[in-house]
Amino acid sequence: MGKVIAVANQKGGVGKTTTTVNIAGFLALARKKVLIIDFDPQANATTSLGLIPDNLTSSSIDFLFSEQLPIRNYSELNGLYIIPSSLTLAEAEIKLFSTPIGREQTLQKKIDKIKDGFDFIFIDCPPNLGPLTINALVGADHLLIPVQTQYLPMDGLKTLISVAKDVEAMYKKERYILGILPTMYAKREKACQEILEKMKNIDFIAGYVFESIIRRSVSIQEATMNKKPICIFKANS
Ligand code: ADP
Ligand code: MG
Repeated sequence: MGKVIAVANQKGGVGKTTTTVNIAGFLALARKKVLIIDFDPQANATTSLGLIPDNLTSSSIDFLFSEQLPIRNYSELNGLYIIPSSLTLAEAEIKLFSTPIGREQTLQKKIDKIKDGFDFIFIDCPPNLGPLTINALVGADHLLIPVQTQYLPMDGLKTLISVAKDVEAMYKKERYILGILPTMYAKREKACQEILEKMKNIDFIAGYVFESIIRRSVSIQEATMNKKPICIFKANS
């Protein structure tokens, strides 16, 4: 059975989409069968793999509420698949709000049907803790939290970790919080050094911070502009 990993942080611009697309890319390169579910109406994962949200005939909202399986193969990398998103996903929030029972498990039920077909499924979350993100958290086996090393939103992280612990307990998950991934690190910048240091020392997150850190690099932005994961845009980056 595939591992389902939600990539979430209610703050925008911390590297959720970049982390999703690039880890998925590297795993596909390592011959794993990987699916990205773009669960953000802003559809950045969709566009960064070269799809145009406005041109889609079906997308993640159809996956959520119909029997359709809008899974696309990313043409430049064998084994990488995406359920794309578009602005219509915003309507899902309203629809989920008005679902009286079991709304938090809507995505999980859909994922359960396709889980066997993949080694890994990544869910790229929107920048909030609304019903889409809660569905992603409940639907996932694990949570990966990218945090940028330029700014540490303590209250936000505290809330996210606390929600994650509730999900872990309520839905009987094990080792649910995979870890906190420091992103956009620039070793010459004092602010980055200080924030990384702080992350490793704050009691409620310290144990979760990965040893591996993601540096800030223009190659990442160039890869996104070229609609490619970094592993094929600049393999040695
Ligand atoms: P989120 O999905 O959390 O909103 P993104 O992954 O879209 O964040 O990243 C926000 C912006 O920062 C994007 O323009 C992206 O290209 C850029 N970015 C992300 N990671 C890096 C990195 N390691 N180095 C340089 N730029 C990055
Ligand atoms: Mg994003």
